[in-house]
Amino acid sequence: MKRLKYRVMVDDVLLDAFRHGVFDWYRVHGRALPWRMTRDPYAIVVSEIMLHQTTVMTVVPVYNAFMQTFPTVEALHAAPLEAVKTITDPLGYKVRGRWLKEIAAVVVERWKGEWPQTVEELMTLPGVGRYTAGAILSFAFGVDAPILDTNVRRVVGRYFGLNYRDTRAETEHRLWALAEAVVPPGQAVDFNQALMDFGAMVCTARKPACTVCPLYLQCQTGGAAEAPTTAAEAPARYQITRRRPADQASSIS
Ligand code: SF4
Repeated sequence: MKRLKYRVMVDDVLLDAFRHGVFDWYRVHGRALPWRMTRDPYAIVVSEIMLHQTTVMTVVPVYNAFMQTFPTVEALHAAPLEAVKTITDPLGYKVRGRWLKEIAAVVVERWKGEWPQTVEELMTLPGVGRYTAGAILSFAFGVDAPILDTNVRRVVGRYFGLNYRDTRAETEHRLWALAEAVVPPGQAVDFNQALMDFGAMVCTARKPACTVCPLYLQCQTGGAAEAPTTAAEAPARYQITRRRPADQASSIS
């Protein structure tokens, strides 16, 4: 497993309000997407590769056609690249078809059809970064792995008062640490999906629905300007500290 550099201690009230707010909202408003009906790592990888820079509604019909045509990683491995690209290219960002073929080759030939369950191994696959590895671990294997896509970093950053637009490494580490801290133990599958939907539908980039948001009372930036511009300006309702080497040896991300 990849090691997080930071440990987060979050105010219990802040953390409980976040988890309950997101979960309660998701139970009513969450989207029933086809890749959420399965724990098959192959199907989840296909969906995540297709969702790169592409909206959910655009991906749904293409994902369904793809899974009907290539229902297993073995079927994908046996198919010609052109047949794969015929389905994936209309999504744009045309490298996807080749990535999926290369992933199938690695899984079938090197790993004998077994998917790895560590961030490091998953990140050796073409097109699989840290976020996608976390998504595979949590959605397919139920590991309490954090995810930090565009939506999640915005929600977490705004709620905890950390500038999610800051791309410096230190801020990146802190956002990952917060994303790890908010996952309720044993519930990563549902919670990470809830968090992504919440970011896509409530805490949106341009017009966050703060006035009807269940997190409004505890949110550090709700209804106001954006989060602080530097990590150092973040409010003190949580603490982020560097892990000691001994701690890192047993941590999961
Ligand atoms: S109150 Fe507004 S900024 Fe805060 S989490 Fe809700 S929608 Fe996002």
